[in-house]
This record gives sequence, C-alpha cells and structure tokens, in this order.
Amino acid sequence: MTLHDKFGRQITDLRISVTDRCNFRCVYCRSADPENYREHDEILSWVELERLALIFAGLGIQKMRITGGEPLVRDGVEKFLRKLNELRVPDISMTTNGHLLAERVPALLEAGLHRINISLDSLDPIKFEKITRTRSYDSVMRGIDAVQASALAPAKINAVLVRGFNEHEVEAFAAFARERGVIMRFIEFMPLDADRHWSRDLMVPADEVYRRIHAQWPLEQIPHAKSETARKYRFADGAPGEIGLIAPVTQPFCGHCSRIRLTADGKMRTCLFSKDDHDLRGLLRNDASDSEIEARIRALADQKEKGHRINEPGFVPPSRTMVFIGG
Ligand code: SAM
Ligand code: SF4
Repeated sequence: MTLHDKFGRQITDLRISVTDRCNFRCVYCRSADPENYREHDEILSWVELERLALIFAGLGIQKMRITGGEPLVRDGVEKFLRKLNELRVPDISMTTNGHLLAERVPALLEAGLHRINISLDSLDPIKFEKITRTRSYDSVMRGIDAVQASALAPAKINAVLVRGFNEHEVEAFAAFARERGVIMRFIEFMPLDADRHWSRDLMVPADEVYRRIHAQWPLEQIPHAKSETARKYRFADGAPGEIGLIAPVTQPFCGHCSRIRLTADGKMRTCLFSKDDHDLRGLLRNDASDSEIEARIRALADQKEKGHRINEPGFVPPSRTMVFIGG
C-alpha cells in the first residue's frame, strides 16, 4: 500500500524528530535565550515511535531519517534504529550536529544506520563557536573523521550559509570536500529560525555558491532523482568529494516533494512550512487501532500543501520553527 496526496505525489520519505532537545544553539535555528523544552511525557516514547514507524512502513515509506533537535542526545536511538531495520525500511539515515558522534559510530553502524548527514557551518573554530554557540568544533571534526574511517563513508556535510557569517567559506568548504572525499551540501537559509532574523538578504542563493565553486574547480552535474532535494555535482578534474546544492527558497522542489514529518511531540507535518501540524499522539494514547491511525495518516497526507509559498507576497513563516519541527 502506498501513500499519496491529492496532487498525485507519492509520499515515500518520513523525517522523524526523536527529541526537541539540543546541545547546540545554532543562530539560524534556535534562540540564544533559554528555551522551554517539552515535558518528557509530551514526547513520544520509543514504543510509540516504533508503532508509528510500523504503520508508516506499511504505507510504503521507503526512507526514514532520524533527526531532532539533536537525535544523539536521546538515549535509545540505536535500539530504535535496530527496530527500523527489523521493519526492513530500505533507507535509514540520520542528521546530527556531530558533537556526540565519534564514539557512537560503531554502535550506529551495528544498529543498521545506512547513511549520515553531519551539520558543519564553519571550518574556522572561532566562527563555528559564534554560529553554534558552543565550543564543539573539535568533537564534530572527530565525528566526521570517525564516519570517514567507517562503512558510513562518505559523510554528507550540511552547511547553512548565512550572509555576513560564513558566506566567505564556500571555497574552503569545497576544498574540504576535495581533500576529505565528503559530500558537501550547501543549504539555503530558510525562514524557520527561532529568533525570526531570517531575511532574503541573509540567504546565500545556491546559484551564487555554484558560480563561485565552478570558477575555481569546474563542476559536472550528476543526475539525481526528481524527489531528491539536492542538485549534485562532481569535480571535473576527478578529485574526490561531491557538492550538493539545496535551494528550497530560490528553486523550490515542492512539485516533486515526497516528504512528510513526524515531530517529537507526535504531530504529523505535511510541509516544513505548514501552518498547522496534526496530532497523532492523542490517537496513540487513546487506544486508536492501527487502521484508525493509518486512515488518519492517509487523510492528512492527502491534504499535503501544493508548495511552501515563501516567494509569494504576504508569506508568513510558520508559528512552529525548526526547533519544534525537526530538520
Ligand atoms: N541537530 C541536528 C543537526 O543540526 O544536524 C539535526 C536537526 S537540524 C534541525 C537538521 C538540519 O536543519 C541541519 O542540517 C540544520 O543545519 C538545518 N537547519 C536548521 N535551521 C535551518 C534554517 N533556518 N534554514 C535551513 N536549514 C536549517
Ligand atoms: Fe541543534 Fe541542529 Fe538546530 Fe543546530 S541546527 S540548534 S544542532 S537542532
């Protein structure tokens, strides 16, 4: 059985946020001010997450990505990964800030993680501290090293470029991809930051990133599936590494979007920019049957938005920001 929306898009990709907690406070995501995390009982338990994963797998979800908050701060992630493997989900991945990663790589691999994305927004430790508001540069680098030395290689490295913060590092990141053989992905800053500082001027368009790298190291496009968010490039001179450009603002890929999201507090979200998300936790905790939950998921998927409307006049960012949504 498969999941579709009313525009005929098949939903094959589920992002599961397993916690709203995080050990970083990236400027483009969270506020510097202390935040009130959800109470523990508001967050789905592992048992509840496993039940939903089983239902989603039965609906033809092919890819499940574990995210947060920071997924590695919640105990039990490896056990959950093992359960996803038992469900034979074809593609199981994780997005992490990398701080707790180095020591966890063997356990994550053993639990059946297939792929990993690590966020890294600066190659300069001082700048890294300003962006993440932590001094974790060395531990993140150790995490990347550990992944590169493992069967999870090549790591995908995610950088969100913010004008005036780290835009000057485009070429340094490309050099990093070439030296380390990683997949370096540049993500356009989206209006999902807790401090509401986003403006179009702060976003570095993917085309600008392309031009700058191509001028120094000519790039060749790699074909990609329509539902993939990244335009992918290899270096024409045969150097290792890849470049990925993710342009949700300047080149929206909504027409081919195959994604839905589950927030840590058990809400289904049909678009990053949805005005509302929809409660599944109540169903889980009020003895709904699997088929009732499945019917609700189908009805919600059907209502998936046509597009995110960031570029339309009068766009209003969603009330729940990345902190609550999960990447
Ligand atoms: N804590 C993990 C991490 O940072 O990798 C996983 C969760 S994080 C919300 C997932 C991804 O969303 C990260 O790659 C992060 O850079 C990205 N992200 C967060 N806020 C963003 C924003 N306002 N615009 C674009 N990407 C953003
Ligand atoms: Fe935490 Fe990831 Fe958000 Fe940074 S981007 S504050 S690491 S959730």
